[in-house]
Amino acid sequence: MNISIIGSTGSIGTQTLDIVERFPERYRVVALTAGKNWEKLLCQIKKFRPLKAAVADDKAFRLLKENLPSGCSTEILSGDDGICHAASMPESELCVVSSVGISGLKPVLSALNSGKQLALATKEALVSGGELVMKTAVENGIMIRPIDSEHSAIFQCIGSGRKFLSRIILTCSGGALRKFPAEKLGNASVSDVLAHPNWSMGKKITVDCATLMNKGFELIEACHLFSVAPDDVEIVVHPQSIIHSMAEFSDGSTLAQMSLPDMRIAIQYALSYPERLDFKWKRTNFLSLQPLTFEKPDYDRFPCLKLAIDSFRSGGTLPASLNAANEEAVYAFLRGEINFGSIYDSVREVIESSERLPADCWENISYADYEARRKCRSVMERLR
Ligand code: MG
Repeated sequence: MNISIIGSTGSIGTQTLDIVERFPERYRVVALTAGKNWEKLLCQIKKFRPLKAAVADDKAFRLLKENLPSGCSTEILSGDDGICHAASMPESELCVVSSVGISGLKPVLSALNSGKQLALATKEALVSGGELVMKTAVENGIMIRPIDSEHSAIFQCIGSGRKFLSRIILTCSGGALRKFPAEKLGNASVSDVLAHPNWSMGKKITVDCATLMNKGFELIEACHLFSVAPDDVEIVVHPQSIIHSMAEFSDGSTLAQMSLPDMRIAIQYALSYPERLDFKWKRTNFLSLQPLTFEKPDYDRFPCLKLAIDSFRSGGTLPASLNAANEEAVYAFLRGEINFGSIYDSVREVIESSERLPADCWENISYADYEARRKCRSVMERLR
């Protein structure tokens, strides 16, 4: 199967390439794309020899072209158009979208509109543009294969029992600050926040895990992917990250998907679906596990969770505004410009002053995104 990987230099992208490498007779990479990490992209080009590669950033594009070895036949493209081309090119059969944030939305739509199978890791595309993405998927007869570990779990548990599904139990590790002293929470440092207990991931999502914004995003993602209402999803904190989520059926039976926290299981299933391939990495030894525990999420300590769910209930472009403001605030926090508590304060303020437009077209979503970023930057300026 020919694969395009959008966001190949990030955590999910590199792990997808691990799997491609493991099954060379089965998968061939035809396109790779990156935001600006041209050096890593160049290494991947040399190794996987894709037909095309694209970089979003202009300067990185020039540097990549200059450093391409002579005789390398990979065609180098640039900008949003180049990335969308990589997602929709005729030679590709399946597109993995794993770029960070709203940048994933356009390639998702391009891949769907050109009839590619879609393996989706970028949850922000569904948070901001869920209605549009799902509508486009239905119109093109594509069933999205989730890569987010929880959604892969739910997808696997539901199987053919879709019409009997009564509830989704979305598990949550609790993030790096689950036990952090309440009085220090607002000033948690970047290193406190990036110390995720179970998963090794990119910085943006690790911050989202610490605020629990990630779990709010995942509830929105689950509602879109599995056509359920927010009330049909229960969030349960499960700090060991062994059960990756569950599906409860009308007869009271609940199925759970379990494994060690290794994203390659979810990625490999998204590639091989509906088949299952051999997994060459570490497997679960149940006799060596800590007891599996479950608790309620603490909405007071982590107010981003409720903010996300409320934005989704309000509907329209509010989740797009939420996502955009959150991206701005998280990167400002990572740059040391605002403290941890200000992520929530600034996103909330943006949401409270954002207008709600129908979220069924690109224009409204991108307008909401632009406005929320602008407002968030001015709110953060004041909070600093
Ligand atoms: Mg997840």
